[in-house]
Amino acid sequence: MIGRDFRFTRWLRQQLTQLLDRLPEGSEPGSAKGGEAELVRRQYLESEQRFRALLESLPKVAVQGYDHNRRVIYWNDASTRLYGYSADEAQGHLLEDLIIPAPMREGVIQAHRDWMVQGKEIPAEEIELRHSSGELVPVFSHHVMLNEHTADPLMFCVDVDLSDQKRAHRELDFATRFDRLTHLLNRHSFEEQLDLALAQCRCQAGSLVLVYLDVDHFVEINDALGYEQGDQLLVELARRLNRDRRATDILSRVSGDEFVIAFPGIHDSDDIPRLVRKMEEVMRAPFLLEERRCKLSACLGVAIFPGNGETAGELIRNADVAKNRAKLAGQGQVIYFNQELHDELLHQHRLSDRLERAVEAGELVLHYQPQVSAISGRVENLEALLRWIPAEGPPVSPAEFIPLAERSELIHRIGDWVLEESCRQRAEWRAAGLALERIDINFSGRQIKRPGIFEHFEACVERHGLGPRDIGIELTENVLIEADDDILAGLRRLHHRGFRIAIDDFGTGYSSLSYLKHFPVTALKIDRTFVRDAPNQPEDRAIMEATVFIGHRLGLEVVAEGVESREQLELVREMRCDLIQGFYFFRPMAAPNIERLLAGMVAGSGSSELSS
Ligand code: C2E
Ligand code: CA
Ligand code: CA
Repeated sequence: MIGRDFRFTRWLRQQLTQLLDRLPEGSEPGSAKGGEAELVRRQYLESEQRFRALLESLPKVAVQGYDHNRRVIYWNDASTRLYGYSADEAQGHLLEDLIIPAPMREGVIQAHRDWMVQGKEIPAEEIELRHSSGELVPVFSHHVMLNEHTADPLMFCVDVDLSDQKRAHRELDFATRFDRLTHLLNRHSFEEQLDLALAQCRCQAGSLVLVYLDVDHFVEINDALGYEQGDQLLVELARRLNRDRRATDILSRVSGDEFVIAFPGIHDSDDIPRLVRKMEEVMRAPFLLEERRCKLSACLGVAIFPGNGETAGELIRNADVAKNRAKLAGQGQVIYFNQELHDELLHQHRLSDRLERAVEAGELVLHYQPQVSAISGRVENLEALLRWIPAEGPPVSPAEFIPLAERSELIHRIGDWVLEESCRQRAEWRAAGLALERIDINFSGRQIKRPGIFEHFEACVERHGLGPRDIGIELTENVLIEADDDILAGLRRLHHRGFRIAIDDFGTGYSSLSYLKHFPVTALKIDRTFVRDAPNQPEDRAIMEATVFIGHRLGLEVVAEGVESREQLELVREMRCDLIQGFYFFRPMAAPNIERLLAGMVAGSGSSELSS
């Protein structure tokens, strides 16, 4: 850059010197007469014209010449465009009066003098000069002194307009620091600012409150009304949050429908609930979407400095944890981060690490719980239930580790293993001639969202030489309701090929019987809590009866889950459930125990009652 600058300056100096030598009116070059002189003169004029034309034609290169008093003697068109003065307007005026901003005036006059007197060059630099409108213009400015050691030194300035670059730079800077939709800080720059605010809190022994806000059911709003409306909602929410923000509060959209707000300078702990109430207020007024008024709510997670984290990253994470906990508690909930949450998080982290290793170390096994025919008492199907039996420590319940695995890709590895192992086992038992209909396996929400999962499932079944009657799947009601068209199409295809698909935990989700007919399912598993409460709770009993009735009308097989007592057994038989699963007959068992059972060597605790 310096080398190029130097060459450019030297070239410019030569060109300007040639031009200047001829500037005084009438003094055309050469006194020689005749053809030779005429030739020299023409050549010179041509070169001068070329240079002038060059200077004039550079739209972004503004050239100005100043005499030793800094009065304008030359001003090209680009200078007019850049600074707003025509050549006539500028001619004879002082440099500092035209384009030098007031705070720089003294310095410029001094630098010009130093150059003339001491030969101290003004280096090329990026500066902001003044337009006739008063606005500042960013330029890269070169300076050249001609006739330096004469009575009439002339300074030429060659300014390149940097507005476009600056604008592009600003835009880039904006894009890297701000969220494009709401124009709030993005997560990265929020963290930077939060760390600065925390440093200040430390100096002043003050507190800071961090609130993590997550709009309830935003995905559904987006789906129902479209992305544009969803975006509009986020913009409106950002506007509200911004509206009564103090100058020191820091606000950011960290992702999708999640906002974080930091309130520094809290000196009274009573202020904290007040701030949280203020955030709740923000959601209270209805949002206008497609000219309809929409009531919204949000869950809030709160973390406080000091106490809930030392760094911006830690505080945000902990407020996020509290927010997630609030989500579990329901809509519009507020949870403050505390030690218990922290410990739980730590526990989950460790468990997650161990689980990852457990998959590799082969610590997972499948147990199988029989489903018994309510009429014949025969074992018809088995439900495969995952067990984690670590080499060290007690077994871990799937109710604990499946939700954990669901938060990462680990669920897919685990799911693949369950599928593979169930198919292998089914094929092995068939080869051994054991009487058995099906093995049903559980699919979680995230598992069935994986593209190609149904093809993968079918391919695995086929690879083991099995058919649609050998392996079934169970999905919870909520998973079905949240399923998109692709998933439903995949399920329909399986259903069409004759695979058995059961709705698991029926009655615990949205619980609408009217949904049933829309789903490609073959069976309904009534949740354990109904079976448990039905003997004593008339409402549960009524719901159960209605469910069995409608299930049968829709041609579905009805399974009662969690039958533990004789009383419950009688009840579900009375209601005409088709299959019974529960500890009263069998607990989930390891494969060798199932083999003994199917080979007729052992009987379940309740079998004799049924067959009698
Ligand atoms: P689920 O699918 O509802 O499985 C039935 C659960 O009820 C099993 O718990 C079973 O042991 C238990 N159970 C069966 N009969 C009775 C009874 O009479 N009384 C009582 N109190 N409980 C009974 P488990 O094995 O602990 O599994 C818990 C959950 O973990 C399962 O609920 C299922 O959601 C999930 N899970 C288990 N294995 C897998 C798997 O391979 N993949 C996936 N995605 N989830 C699995
Ligand atoms: Ca199940
Ligand atoms: Ca279940």
